[in-house]
Amino acid sequence: MILVINCGSSSVKFAVMEPLEQVMLVSGLAEKLGSDGAEIAIKIGVQKNPTPRRSWKDASGSLIKIEDYQKEVYQLGNGGHTEALAKLVEVLKAHGLLNELTAVGHRVVHGGSYFSDSAVITPEIIEKVTECNVIAPLHNPANLLGIEVATQQLPNLPQVAVFDTSFHQTMPDYSYLYATPRSWEKEHHVRRYGFHGTSHRFIAIKTAELLNKPLSDLNIICAHMGNGSSICAIKGGESMDTSMGFTPLPGLIMGTRSGDIDPALITYMAERLNTDAQGVIDILNKKSGLLGVSELTNDMRELTEAATKGHEGAQLAVEMFCYRVAKYVAEYMVPLQRLDALVFTGGIGENSAIVREKVLAHLRFLGFIVDPAVNDKTYGGKTTVITTAGSTRAMVVNTNEELMIAMDTHQLTRTSGAVKSVSFENY
Ligand code: ADP
Repeated sequence: MILVINCGSSSVKFAVMEPLEQVMLVSGLAEKLGSDGAEIAIKIGVQKNPTPRRSWKDASGSLIKIEDYQKEVYQLGNGGHTEALAKLVEVLKAHGLLNELTAVGHRVVHGGSYFSDSAVITPEIIEKVTECNVIAPLHNPANLLGIEVATQQLPNLPQVAVFDTSFHQTMPDYSYLYATPRSWEKEHHVRRYGFHGTSHRFIAIKTAELLNKPLSDLNIICAHMGNGSSICAIKGGESMDTSMGFTPLPGLIMGTRSGDIDPALITYMAERLNTDAQGVIDILNKKSGLLGVSELTNDMRELTEAATKGHEGAQLAVEMFCYRVAKYVAEYMVPLQRLDALVFTGGIGENSAIVREKVLAHLRFLGFIVDPAVNDKTYGGKTTVITTAGSTRAMVVNTNEELMIAMDTHQLTRTSGAVKSVSFENY
């Protein structure tokens, strides 16, 4: 079993996964770490009756079925990451799960240009991840803290880093470079890195399996649409282009991020708002996107509901969101030339029939014809093709970043046995 950790500055998300059975046994969140009200909530899978673990998956194949979990919540005083992980270790021990752990997999946001794959953590790897702090000051220090604390708490387990950026290292230079002075890249690491790579990679593998095609022959566009959204052109299983950049700010319209804007707006608005460049960037990250446009909420479910009731801001935000996604899909036909499927994933992609329908309506010229009967019923964990027979294919596939991290961690740390390819057949 693999402990998967996603460490933020004041939170830790975690899961215990069995990668070969593709089952999540524990999941949870520690939050408000380092301040009053710090707490950890742990959901532990309960084997009611002697039900085999696999039955914890619901009919659609989703890994988590909340009803099957018992929730334990503990206050941590104003404890930090160390106290949170210590409590998690204690609880796992009490449930007999601690001894079953074989490794820890960490989500690490930025691997810079160093990492094109996941890596077993060694002092050299820590050094390289630390070097990436300069280009990911908001995320990587927290990820490093998670690695340090997990190593203290579980000193006998190997630790693995799985990077959000590594999948995109296959982008060609004409795709990842900005048209800025070359010295910016050479001296200051300025280039597009892309994020959400763990999700895009999972979707590529899973789609290849669903379409019964070798990954090396699979061309898809993956639209990961959640609170953060990005889109990726994947050719032969490799990322060719993606919409996020040096940071996760550009590209699609997101919950609170603007996505693409004219960079000259930054100094212009700094002056107008009597702030500095960072002040404007903060607004572009936290008060823009669906929230900024709708002046209502960053939540797509609420927006689509408000839009149908006539809220103009919500209608505009939904239209802008869908138009931007469609424009990127059309653009990404350039690196792909041939498309096996447009795949929708993430909270919005998996659940919002309206958004998918609007995106596909813009893309009629590429041969997409949505099947409303199927599309309207596709939510809550269903994986299916949502276009008619004869249409260019669009599908919904559920992403699972924790499983991808657990699978990588398992692959890299397995100590015995023949190398088995990890399959999704049970997923
Ligand atoms: P994160 O990027 O934080 O992981 P998620 O992938 O969970 O986010 O996606 C969250 C988004 O998915 C929210 O905007 C939420 O409203 C949207 N969403 C979830 N369910 C639905 C639904 N049924 N209809 C429309 N949007 C939905």
